[in-house]
Amino acid sequence: MADFNTHILGAAAVVSLGATCATKLLSLSMPEGLMLMVVGVIGGVLPDLDLRSSQPSKALFAVLGVFAALAWLFASMSYFTGIELWLGTLVVFMLVRYPLAYGFHRMTTHRGVFHSLIAALMAGVVTSALAWQHMGTSALQSWLLGLSLMGGYLVHLALDEIYSVDFTGARFKRSFGTALKPLAMQQLPASLLVIFITIVAFFWSPPYQQAITQLLDRYTDWQSALIPTWL
Ligand SMILES: [Zn+2]
Repeated sequence: MADFNTHILGAAAVVSLGATCATKLLSLSMPEGLMLMVVGVIGGVLPDLDLRSSQPSKALFAVLGVFAALAWLFASMSYFTGIELWLGTLVVFMLVRYPLAYGFHRMTTHRGVFHSLIAALMAGVVTSALAWQHMGTSALQSWLLGLSLMGGYLVHLALDEIYSVDFTGARFKRSFGTALKPLAMQQLPASLLVIFITIVAFFWSPPYQQAITQLLDRYTDWQSALIPTWL
């Protein structure tokens, strides 16, 4: 029976392969490669944020709050004093953990719009945009982070479809297509919102021409980089 652990393991297995190959092919630094893996595993649990008032969902929003607070802290480091930074970090965490989680759960149903391909795309583009705008990563690394998160997200959707489980390990009577669907047609307003956010985030994302140039500069021969000599 598959559950939360399966989602973590599944995402980690697939994403670590992608991240390792990308690290070798593009001569990424170790921190860059590690970031790809971490973000991919986060993508592997992200769709289940829509689980209502369960322990794992609370834990996920707490983790998300910590990430948001740390991101704010690093982005604001040079503008504020120590006490202000500490207070701001606390406020950001609280905002994510309570009002955002509350609003989010009011708006979503489990296996609704967040379990769809368009949501996976949104999560990827938003990640690239956030990395590019706030973390100072290169255009290429920003897009790789988005791709990695989207990869983990897609693994989650596929696993849900295969095992028909939810975050807590409870079994569902399976109706095929509740996880891997392009759009949530029953939730049209929410689906349109997801599309809107994706388009807005795309304008904030790094220029892809720049990412492609960086990719071609760094690309090395895949055969010698990836295939062992004993094969
Ligand atoms: Zn799920």
